[in-house]
Amino acid sequence: MYGKPHPPVVGFLFLWTTMRQTTLKGVEDILPADIHRWQFLEQQADEVFSRCGYQQIRIPIIEPAQLFVRSIGEQTDIVEKEMYSFTDRGERQICLRPEATASVVRAYLQHQFDGQGGCAQFYYYGPMFRGERPQAGRQRQFHQVGVEAIGSYSPLLDADVVMTALRYIECLGLRRYRLQLNSVGCPEDKTNYAQQLRDFLSGQRSGLCESCVSRLERNVLRVLDCKNSACRQIIASAPHIEHAHCAQCREHFAAVQEMLRSQKAEFEINPYLVRGLDYYTRTVFEIPHGQLGAQNAICAGGRYDNLVAELGGSPAGAVGFAFGMERLLIALESESTAISEKTRPLVYVAGLGVVAMRAVFSIVQEIRAQGVAAVFSYEERSLKSHLKRADKLKANHAVIIGEEELASGTILVRDMRRSIQQSIPSSLLRSALEI
Ligand SMILES: [Zn+2]
Ligand SMILES: [Zn+2]
Repeated sequence: MYGKPHPPVVGFLFLWTTMRQTTLKGVEDILPADIHRWQFLEQQADEVFSRCGYQQIRIPIIEPAQLFVRSIGEQTDIVEKEMYSFTDRGERQICLRPEATASVVRAYLQHQFDGQGGCAQFYYYGPMFRGERPQAGRQRQFHQVGVEAIGSYSPLLDADVVMTALRYIECLGLRRYRLQLNSVGCPEDKTNYAQQLRDFLSGQRSGLCESCVSRLERNVLRVLDCKNSACRQIIASAPHIEHAHCAQCREHFAAVQEMLRSQKAEFEINPYLVRGLDYYTRTVFEIPHGQLGAQNAICAGGRYDNLVAELGGSPAGAVGFAFGMERLLIALESESTAISEKTRPLVYVAGLGVVAMRAVFSIVQEIRAQGVAAVFSYEERSLKSHLKRADKLKANHAVIIGEEELASGTILVRDMRRSIQQSIPSSLLRSALEI
């Protein structure tokens, strides 16, 4: 009715040279058709984690790069190869967060949660960034949902955090998962074990892949994560970390297992599970899923007793985990878990002709003010086209107003499901729509 404006001249001149822009490699849009799956993961997290004593925290996407170098460890794949870091206009080293644990601990210290007594328990969800080679379940912008509990050295905390992860999985409806558990011991045990492992592997150096030879000197525990089949064979006869545990660490790990058994939580001990990040101490765990294989666990976590002190606080025990949300969605799909789309009643209001369309505008505002969803067309359409649109939007009712209705003060209300319509006085609209 109001005619299209002329295209801008610049747009016309560059018509042949402008390309449509697309997302970066490894970065994806989440479209409206999929949003209910994501909201399902988030709503279950809100429900389950708050039931387990956690409060939501929203941490920034960007942080000083040093935060992650200090916490994750300089000689890890994340810091060496995968972090998105850059120098900003103020010459500061900035990093897109590759994970949330370090940020949550930073926030815990910055806002003095350490002085409040008891355990501080946070949960979060949101995007993380790592420059990996994109593949199924691994994107450069990926999403995690997780918890961090800071302020206790008790094995009850380890067990409760693991139970929280299992409760979340159960509430999502997943069945084909396994829980793998190990303990990497305290830093002294870790150092002792690293020496034992280095001694053992040095004798097998010629059989190791190139990366593992360099890991020998720099971060020998990471050899245990190698996917190379020759390396895996050598690893299979490597000494187990449990033999390097001190008495307290052995006792701690036994207590964690006992608490999990008391809840009939099934788990297996994986002696080679050490996790690639420097900050883990004592309990570590992963939850692989049948669909994704061992290298792409849907959940990973553990205890990190030294991180708080490492980031400038007084020492405090802490345990946390993170789920990969893309991986959870793959797992859910493979188990054909139904995620229902939440729908709410919708009214489509159709105006036939310029004058009726203005009346429609007011009616829509009135319906919305009553708390009911209502939409209309901004452009003129035929009645048939209006009804097609109402059908596509899954509207429960269509309200139709033409010149005739305007003149007689009536409206046509069509029940879209039953395809029946009736003419009523416009004053009865609210009762016809049951609002
Ligand atoms: Zn120990
Ligand atoms: Zn290797």
